[in-house]
Amino acid sequence: MRLTKFTDLALRAVMRLAVSSNDPAITTREVAEAVEVPYTHMAKAVARLRELGVVDARRGRGGGLELTAFGRGASVGWLVRELEGDGEVVACAGDPPCPLRAACRLRGALRTAQEAFYASLDRLTVGDLAAGPAGPVLVGLSGRPSD
Ligand code: SF4
Repeated sequence: MRLTKFTDLALRAVMRLAVSSNDPAITTREVAEAVEVPYTHMAKAVARLRELGVVDARRGRGGGLELTAFGRGASVGWLVRELEGDGEVVACAGDPPCPLRAACRLRGALRTAQEAFYASLDRLTVGDLAAGPAGPVLVGLSGRPSD
């Protein structure tokens, strides 16, 4: 299974935010530069992360992004499901729809495999992604201090 680019860069953002100092908070532009994605793409991912309650944005002097307590404890499986949406691994009902879909056994097997993929990510939290050797690497991406 392959994640969308949108999901991948949203995950990069939460990992970078998991090691951020909140004073001053890191901005969307700084996160984009740190993980090497275009600002406009990162802004869309951050907007979705804010909708999900994973990231908060403070305005004004010293403002910027921060990972919420909910976001830090959220399971990666849940977050990836939310970011990927309800799509199936294969577009059986595409245009044109697959002629086998009424009786296809592969479709059900792929759904089961997709759920197993998500379930394996349920064991990790967003905070876990920044633990161990990943932490210093994430901090070093932009030179910002950690908490
Ligand atoms: S063969 Fe089965 S899994 Fe593949 S597109 Fe057709 S219905 Fe879907």
